[in-house]
Amino acid sequence: PPAIRIDNLVKRYDPSGPGEEGKLALKGVSFDVPQGGVFGLLGPNGAGKSTIINILAGLVRKTGGSANIWGFDIDENPRNAKRSIGIVPQEIVFDPFFTPFEVLENQGGFYGIPKRDRRSEELLAAVHLSDKRNAYARSLSGGMKRRLLIAKAMVHSPPILVLDEPTAGVDVELRRQLWELVGEMNAEGVTVVLTTHYLEEAEELCDQIAIINHGELIANKPTKDLIGMA
Ligand code: ADP
Ligand code: ADP
Repeated sequence: PPAIRIDNLVKRYDPSGPGEEGKLALKGVSFDVPQGGVFGLLGPNGAGKSTIINILAGLVRKTGGSANIWGFDIDENPRNAKRSIGIVPQEIVFDPFFTPFEVLENQGGFYGIPKRDRRSEELLAAVHLSDKRNAYARSLSGGMKRRLLIAKAMVHSPPILVLDEPTAGVDVELRRQLWELVGEMNAEGVTVVLTTHYLEEAEELCDQIAIINHGELIANKPTKDLIGMA
């Protein structure tokens, strides 16, 4: 089965005022994310990428269609569906006075993982932050924070890692670092899904690319076939 299956997904946001029509952000989008690869959701700002991610994350309620994560329907089995993905949000959100180790331990607690079963040290090593184990999060560089967010998303050992615009607004050096990390996670067997508006990023990282524009799927192909089209 696919890692993720989205079928005819529709989202209309609530109207912003009386007499207004809510924004139709997704107009019936369907695609499968195969297991084991790196899947890119490519499209310009406003295309609907975050809306899809937020529906999968259980943060936005879809208007129509269905979504299935690792075999779990998000309506029928929201808990298992949610547990099957780790989401790396665009914005950096953790308490500035917690240390990386504490951030991961707290997240483990949030998921009800017993202390002895937590993998905080292992995850810090995986994102190359072991030496920052006890630093305040506020003292970390932007790149370190992004890496910590990736570790935080992996605390419950989800089979799927979703990154929403992982390199938006970051410099070349950090982009390289994050790309490498994505490759390392994937090599460990994690199915990776990322959104981006950089074609080069999708080409570099992804083995399959779905292009979305104005809430519609334009293409969905192995990267090598897509490049041939341009
Ligand atoms: P992307 O992630 O590709 O930039 P989004 O999914 O964020 O696109 O947005 C898709 C469309 O939905 C845009 O037109 C955006 O303005 C609109 N939109 C996003 N979130 C909301 C919201 N909470 N309320 C109303 N409209 C929204
Ligand atoms: P850098 O200077 O290394 O790029 P910044 O300190 O500028 O990193 O942080 C990047 C972004 O993260 C900014 O938007 C900032 O507001 C936010 N931010 C900084 N520290 C924290 C923190 N401890 N927790 C949450 N957000 C933070």
